[in-house]
Formats: sequence, C-alpha cells, structure tokens
Amino acid sequence: MRKIIHIDMDAFYASVEQRDDPTLRGRPVAVGYAAKRGVVAAASYAARKFGVRSAMPSITALRKCPELMFVPPRFEVYRSVSREIQAIFADYTHLVEPLSLDEAYLDVTENLRGIPTAAATATATEIRSRIFAQTGLTASAGISYNKFLAKLASNHRKPNGQFVIPPGMGAAFVEALPVGKFHGVGPVTAEKMNRLGIRVGADLRAQSVAFLQQHFGKSGPWYHAIAHGEDDRPVISDRPRKSSGSETTFESDLTDCSAIEAGVVAMADEVWTWCQKANAFGRTVTVKIKYADFRQATRSRSLSATVAAQVILRNISIDLVRSVFPLAQGVRLVGVAVSNFGEKEHSSVEQLDLALTA
Ligand SMILES: [Mg+2]
Repeated sequence: MRKIIHIDMDAFYASVEQRDDPTLRGRPVAVGYAAKRGVVAAASYAARKFGVRSAMPSITALRKCPELMFVPPRFEVYRSVSREIQAIFADYTHLVEPLSLDEAYLDVTENLRGIPTAAATATATEIRSRIFAQTGLTASAGISYNKFLAKLASNHRKPNGQFVIPPGMGAAFVEALPVGKFHGVGPVTAEKMNRLGIRVGADLRAQSVAFLQQHFGKSGPWYHAIAHGEDDRPVISDRPRKSSGSETTFESDLTDCSAIEAGVVAMADEVWTWCQKANAFGRTVTVKIKYADFRQATRSRSLSATVAAQVILRNISIDLVRSVFPLAQGVRLVGVAVSNFGEKEHSSVEQLDLALTA
C-alpha cells in the first residue's frame, strides 16, 4: 500500500501578498488587475466569502465585493516561495511531483527521514509546520493511498488543515461526492453524466466499465476506477532540469495581457539565471503559451549573436508574447526557452554584462 501526500498552499498568490503587506491581511484581496478586461488570478479567503473566485472577470468580482483590493501579481516572488517549499519536500522523498507552483504530490511510502510509513499523517503535519515556519504561509494536506484520493482529501479541511482517507475508505469517501468534483471530470462531462442520471460517486460506481466506455470512450475505465477510489498512477518526480527552458502553469487561466507578460518576464529571468550558471548562451529565444483548451502557440526569434544580457532576453520574450495578443481565450501556461547554442566566443558586451552581474 502506497502513502501519498498531496500538499496544497492555501490561496497561494493572495496569501503571499497578505504576508508581504500587513495592511492587506484579513481583507478581501484579489491578485490581478481591476482593468476592464482584467481577471482575478487568485482571491483571499475574505474575498471568497463575497463569492469572488479565481478566473472571474474583475468587473464581476468588484460587483460582488465593492471593497475588493486588487494587487498586481508578482510571479517572481511566487516562484521563489515555490522553490522554498520544494526544498522542504526534498527532505522527505525524492518522489515529488509538482502540479503547479503551490501544489505537489509526494510519495512517502519510503521516506528519507525514517518516519514509519504508518505515520504519513505525522509527516504531513511536520511538512506543513516547516512550510509555515519558513515562509509564514499555511498549506493543507491530503493523505491517502493514491493521488486521486490524496488530492480530494487536501481540499477537505482547507485552509490550514489536513485529512486522511485510510486504506479501503476511498469508495466510501467518494460515494456522496458530486461527479463535477472528481479530478478529470470537467463541467461538460459532469453535465453529460447528470443527463445519464449519474450525479454522485455512488451513481458512477453503479455503472459498468462497458457502459462508461460506451458513453465516455477512453475515459470510461478511469471514471470506473475513481468511483471505486482506485488510482494506480505513480508519483512522477520532476527530472533535474537540463534545458534552458522554464515554464509555469497559472493557478487559473489568465486573459490579462500585463499579467501574462509578468509571467513571461519571470520565466525569462529564470532562463537567464540558468544561462549564467551553465555558462551557455543561445541565439534563439522561444516563447510558448498554452491556452485554456490546451492548444499551444510558439513564437521564436533568432539573433545573429548570442543573447547577451538579461534585459535583451526579457525584451525579446515580451515582444514575442505580444505577437499572440489579442488573446482568443485564457492562457494557462507560459514558457520561455533559449536554444541554438554556439561554440562561438561571447561578444565583449556579454563579457561586460557577466562581469557586472557576477
Ligand atoms: Mg493552492
């Protein structure tokens, strides 16, 4: 039996902003821009009480909560907090699978601290208290014997709580759960299930694999398994990065151009840090975006010489992402990469820049 922990930071972006600006604490805060076409990227718990949700248009959010305070996103800060929590996870297991900046699965079946496997709950408690001690932020945890259940469990006692679904209790836990809350069941599928009379986990469990396959194709066996609380997917750890690319998945799809540009700049800066560490400089810059429907767009530009300075990489990246605006739909991921590494000597400008930033 595996021991899986799902750790999820509470209202991550908003909590970071409240941590760094005490005047925001306890107040309804939205990370994002109040601009006409702006969208809420994250909402504090006080804002959620008014019905403000991430991915909601800012105008709607302000209507629901007129005193809502908008704070522009600072992705570079979120990235750095994310690195801090990843470092804590690494003390417990090599099997860490990040889902986004603030969420990860940990397989602690064989943990590095010699904590008995029966004590996955204690492990989760310890990780959460270390996260709080180091970052001043709270996290919630779900503990179970597979990823599907661990993720459901972490949501159960949010914020700043944890919940265990012990062996054998998975099917019972999902019995009363509306199908729309199942991981991998989107609104369209949930609607279709409802039309077939499948409203909660118990209804789903009552259907045969053949029936589910007939109506939902390849996903049928997956729905059948999760209705029984079963999920064999392994925790796949992030391989050490060997490339000069960086990408990030947003907490919610973004439509606000300045927020997307801020994300691109944060990625460009990460790539630049890598270039300096690896002493590898390329001539081609590529920006990738992934839309809400998972379609991708990439834009590249090649220079005659290697990208010689951070500001150049930033500016090219911003230029490239602007070439996909206006956006037809929300953006869930942005990435920046440098390639086309030459054997050539660095230009003198570059040497100067390296000297100045060293
Ligand atoms: Mg979270």
